[in-house]
Order: sequence, then C-alpha cells, then structure tokens
Amino acid sequence: MTDFPSPSGRPENRKKSIFAVFWPVLAAVTLIAGTLVLALGGLAITQRPLPDVAVSPAEPPPFVLANLAFADVELVPPPPLSLEEFKGFQMREEERPPEPPSNDPYELTLRLERGDTVEKILADIDVPEDDRKEIAVRLQALLKKTKLAIGETIDLVLTASPDQLDAPRVLSLSVRPQPEREYIVTRKDDGSYEAEMKVHKVSPRIVRVDTVRVGSLQQSGIKAGAPSAAITEFIRALSFDVDFQRELKEGQRFTLLLEQLVTSDGLLAHPGRLLAGELKLAKRTVTVVRFRPAGGAEQFYNPKGESVVRSFLRTPMDVSRVTSKFGMRQHPIMGFSALHTGVDFAAPHGTPVLASGIGKVTMAGYNGGYGLYVKLQHNAEIGTAYAHLSRLGPGIKPGVSVRQGQVVGFVGSTGMSTGPHLHYEFYRGGRAINPLAQKFAMRGNLGGKDLTRFQALSRQYVVQLKNAPAVASVKPPKAKEPAPPQVAKGD
Ligand SMILES: [Zn+2]
Repeated sequence: MTDFPSPSGRPENRKKSIFAVFWPVLAAVTLIAGTLVLALGGLAITQRPLPDVAVSPAEPPPFVLANLAFADVELVPPPPLSLEEFKGFQMREEERPPEPPSNDPYELTLRLERGDTVEKILADIDVPEDDRKEIAVRLQALLKKTKLAIGETIDLVLTASPDQLDAPRVLSLSVRPQPEREYIVTRKDDGSYEAEMKVHKVSPRIVRVDTVRVGSLQQSGIKAGAPSAAITEFIRALSFDVDFQRELKEGQRFTLLLEQLVTSDGLLAHPGRLLAGELKLAKRTVTVVRFRPAGGAEQFYNPKGESVVRSFLRTPMDVSRVTSKFGMRQHPIMGFSALHTGVDFAAPHGTPVLASGIGKVTMAGYNGGYGLYVKLQHNAEIGTAYAHLSRLGPGIKPGVSVRQGQVVGFVGSTGMSTGPHLHYEFYRGGRAINPLAQKFAMRGNLGGKDLTRFQALSRQYVVQLKNAPAVASVKPPKAKEPAPPQVAKGD
C-alpha cells in the first residue's frame, strides 16, 4: 500500500486499475474484432491483418474462411494491442502494467478529497451500487461519530468481478483515522460485508532531537523533527530563566528528549511528549526536566529539582526585542527628556501579549497616550500594564481573573506611539520599577522522596539526551501529528 495518489492522480489511478481489470477483455475484444474482419471477407482488412491468415478477395468462399478464422483464433496468441485504437487509455507501451490473471486481487489507495464520502470514492472507481452502499453503511455503523478528515487515505483490496467486468469487487476496505484504530470492512463468502475495528497496541519509545538554532528555536526544532507542541513547551520552560534578547544567539545547540507512542506495526500514534531539554548558551547550559511530584501536576524542573516556573514572566511575549529600556531618555514624540516608566518591546503588529503572572484585570480600554491599555493586579503589591495594544485578548475586561501566560491583548500602535510595540510597565506598591532588573521567586522546589525520585530520573534523562536514538533515524513514514497548539510560537 504505497500508492498515495494526489487529487489529480486519482483518475489516472482509476484508469490503471480498470486497465488491469480489462486487459484480458481488451485482448478478447481485439480477437473478436479481427475475426469479424475476416468474416467480412477481407473488405476491411487494412489496419492490421492477423499474421497467419492471408486474406484477399480472391480467396476461398466465406464459410471456409470463417472456419479457418475461428480455428486460428484459438491457436494464435493475441496480437500486440494497438493502443491508438483505444483513445481512452493514454498509456504508452512501456507503462503498461504486467498482465495479471483476471481474478488476482490488487491494492489501491485513495485519498478523501473535499466533499468526498467513502461511497462517492467507491462510485468513482465503478464499484457496483449495492456493494458500495453496504460498505458505507457498515463502515459508518462502526465509525459512529468519528469523522474522516479530508486527506484521509482509504486502502482497498479489489478484484475483477466475474459477472460484471467493468465493476471491480471490493474484497476489503480499511481506514485508520488514528494509528491505534483501524476500521476494516471485508467481503464474506456469501457476498455480504462485515466491519470490525482493530485496535493496535501502542508503546512508548524514547528519541532525541539534537540540532542548532537557525532563525528561531521553534522553526529549527520543527525542521529537525520535533513536534511543535513539544518545542513550544520547551521554549515556555526556558522562558522563565533565559533572557531571549541577550542570551540567545544563532548556532546555539539544543536537544530535546521525547517520548513517542508507537503502534505494534510501527506507526506513530503520538509524535513525542517533551521529557527533558537542554540549551547550550554562551556561558551556561540550561536543562529542564519534566516531573510529576506525588499528588501534584507535571512541571518542568532544573536538575537541582527547582521548578522552572517563576511568579512572573521575564518578557510578556514570545517574540520580541527590547527597543527602549526603563529610565531617563529623550521622548521620541514629545522631544524632552523624561523617565521612561516601562520597557518597550518591538514585535510585529498582532503578536499576542501575555499576562506575566496570575492576577486580576483592573483596567482594559483606552487610556490617553497609552492607547489601548490593560492593567493587571497580581497581589497586594505588584501590578503590570500593557500599552499601545491593537486589540484586547478574548474575555479581557475589568474584574476578570487571568492565568500566567494568558493572552491579554495584541501588539499595536495605538495612543502616543511611533510604530507597533508593547510598552510594558511593572509596579511595586504603586510605583513603576524596571521589570528586567527583578529577580523573581522560584515557584517551588522538590524535597524528600520526590527529590530522590526526581534525581534518579533526571540523571537518566541527562544520559539519554546524549545517547537516545535520533528522531530522524526512527521516524516511520506515516506519521500523524495532533492539531497544532493554541499558543504563540517563536523565541
Ligand atoms: Zn514605552
């Protein structure tokens, strides 16, 4: 089942399969045509005389000729098929498939296109109506509410039907919307169809993605074979500790350790969950390890067992560049020197702006020179503000609670602004301070039995980050990746 016809490839494929079914028929038709020609007394013998029967108008009477002709037909092998005579089949001599015995089963893989149904696909290849209806009903009964996606492949085993030569008979149809579940409809001896679901066992497999940063971490990771959800998790885990503006450089090496799920027949059921990751910066190596403490939720820790999660994000965006720091500066619009009460991050218009910590929205709307503006209060002491937004995040209004990393708005250039950027302010006790100068607290460290268990796991992962098989070497040909994550990407 290696055949994956493109949308435009399907008609050709269909021609091939029908050609295979018809091959003996065509040969027979040619013979009958030849015979007819002979029987007509040679009047029409201009195109292709049968080699062993020389005919001319002066030859013996027609009945003899007819006998001769029929006798010869049984002995003479079929003449080479002159394909020009069958304009429907635009195949050249060398493309002709080997002649199969008429009832040999053959495989065909078709793709569901927009607006397709299984029944329509079967109609396209001329499966008789009763058969295709029954197959569709049986399959649907099994699939229940599972919908087949556009692009899903349908594997068929077909044979020529002995009584209806132009209509292939479906011996089996199978579809596998998830690698672990295969739905199969098979033809029984009595000609009816039955359907069954085959569950393929899945087991974990540990692999490694080892690559260097070219452009963004996200793109480099995906290019090297990491699923985008895993690389996003990695970036998130690093973002509490790594200063992406100052520390991240081109060509830096990073490695992800992934746990894939693989079916017993080698298909990828899950492209890989991030177990651990390592980023080599100029002066240090940052390692993150996934771990679930007893009774707690899974989180990333550094090798010392300290949670990577801090109370505040270092930068409230995934893609950004500091263009103006906190402190005294020449105001770009007003012209005079004044205290810049925040940090400006340049980012493309529409880049999601993230709540840097858990908190409550105290303001969301237009606020003079700040333009569209959101202010959050995180605790009695600390607040953050986000200015010049193009629009607010979904559900953001005064009084609602936000989680850390939730989208509060999108980068814009509203208010007193010279171009798309985020003006980010950090308040302590009502006074604006420099967010980049803060040391934020770790959110929790492991201890006791958790720490012992974590240290053993962490040591194992650190070894595997160096010697687990590379993802490229084990990646099976047919991989299904789940829907892309909802978070912003980039570094
Ligand atoms: Zn600013």
